[in-house]
Amino acid sequence: MSCLFCKIVEGVIPSTPVYQDDLGYAFADINPQAPVHILIVPREHISSMNEAGQDKRALLGHLLLAAADIARKKNLGDGYRIVVNTGEDGGQTVEHLHLHLLGGRAMTWPPG
Ligand code: AMP
Ligand code: ZN
Repeated sequence: MSCLFCKIVEGVIPSTPVYQDDLGYAFADINPQAPVHILIVPREHISSMNEAGQDKRALLGHLLLAAADIARKKNLGDGYRIVVNTGEDGGQTVEHLHLHLLGGRAMTWPPG
């Protein structure tokens, strides 16, 4: 098992947990880009959105709603951003699908 986020899910590499259930795990990003920066990952290894088939529909919906739940618990009522970087052009650096939940400051658009 060489995947960084699989190791984090397994607890082999330490992380700061925020939320977990049978399908997903959420933890603090090690290099936060906003006052709140949390990563939400599926427990099962999926490399990216590019590899996620229709069989992952419920799982991905679950993770998206988990992110919104975390945002509510973190009092991000003024808004937040959920980002899924995908592939090289998308800026993905860890090849285990993850949602970034960013909040606590006003975001800019367009993204870099
Ligand atoms: P991406 O560039 O979309 O693939 O995002 C990968 C994210 O993982 C980056 O925001 C990193 O800061 C974060 N990251 C990398 N290693 C760790 C780690 N050990 N614990 C928590 N977050 C990490
Ligand atoms: Zn993985």
